[in-house]
Amino acid sequence: MANTRYAPAVVFDRTAGPAAPEDSAGPPSSPGAFGSVFTDHMVTVRHRPDEGWHGARVERFGPTAMSPAAACLHYGQTIFEGLKAYRAPDGRVLLFRPDANAARFQRSARRLAMPELPGELFVQALEELVAADRRWVPSADGGSLYLRPFLVATEPFLGMRPAEEYLFCVIASPVGGVFAGGPGAISVDVSHDYARAAPGGTGSAKCGGNYAAALPALRRAVSEGYDQVVFLDAAQHRNVEELGGMNIFFVFRDGRITTPPLLDTVLAGVTRDSVITLAEDAGHQVTEAPYPVEQWRDDAASGELREVFACGTAATIAGIDRVRYLGAEFTVGNGGVGPVTAGLRTRLLDLQYGRAEDAHDWVRVV
Ligand code: PMP
Repeated sequence: MANTRYAPAVVFDRTAGPAAPEDSAGPPSSPGAFGSVFTDHMVTVRHRPDEGWHGARVERFGPTAMSPAAACLHYGQTIFEGLKAYRAPDGRVLLFRPDANAARFQRSARRLAMPELPGELFVQALEELVAADRRWVPSADGGSLYLRPFLVATEPFLGMRPAEEYLFCVIASPVGGVFAGGPGAISVDVSHDYARAAPGGTGSAKCGGNYAAALPALRRAVSEGYDQVVFLDAAQHRNVEELGGMNIFFVFRDGRITTPPLLDTVLAGVTRDSVITLAEDAGHQVTEAPYPVEQWRDDAASGELREVFACGTAATIAGIDRVRYLGAEFTVGNGGVGPVTAGLRTRLLDLQYGRAEDAHDWVRVV
């Protein structure tokens, strides 16, 4: 995941109708609900077996015509990524580990029999969009520009085989913090029935179907007063795996930290990987080991477990204090956000916003 600097590989056509400043209302004063406002532009690149990746454009954000027979609409050949552009105090705009997202996008593509976008083109597409919509990168505290690259099969074809035509697109949305109320702790419902991913399945790929399949559990949890769902392994409903869109960490009394291992049922979060490094930098011993949900409940009761947090690009690091499992609730630590969680969150945000020295070469200036 080296932060390699690539020579621009592709010339993007920037003449395809960028919005004139007077056409755009520009960034709203407050970003609204997560992912509900979009910038003026989008980037598109097409793929066909005979032409490879071609037709790279920066164009006006808007609807994309597609045949109703487009393969993505039927058999779910769709993958995506999520990362953010941050504005540093000196005005520079920064991307955080985009190479890691590029590599994960390639792994997701392989799992869904889709063409792999070269890493340099992925990063270049992000930079083109951020450059075109630079004024949309919020400078307000906690704000950022969420970038959503995605790849969908566009070939009009209803047979069962990998499609031959694809659209790669990047859109962007200015966002504030994800959970209303800022960095307070969140509550979770541990799903004892719905599973997110099964061994041999697509859990470690960032594909649309995984998220659709998680929605009934989320809808139930939210309707019953919880913020998020924690999923267990599909075979035994025993070991904790992850949330619907975040990885999970457990912090013990002696400073040890553990997180579920990267099986093929767990998404390898870029934040997860960064948190492991930052926790080790801070002197914690970090293990990647299975953690049964009953153990979670018992360790919380005995006080052995001090803190639990979830992490991902959207919410950064969020403490988890209230947990429901099999109809009964328990609390972790003293409730609220613990000191280890708060410290790691501050450390990570300082790096992402260019307020701390980039010792791991994670930050890329656009
Ligand atoms: N797990 C799942 C299922 C996710 O969708 C995400 C968000 N991409 C994560 C974990 C966290 O990944 P990252 O830190 O790269 O955002």
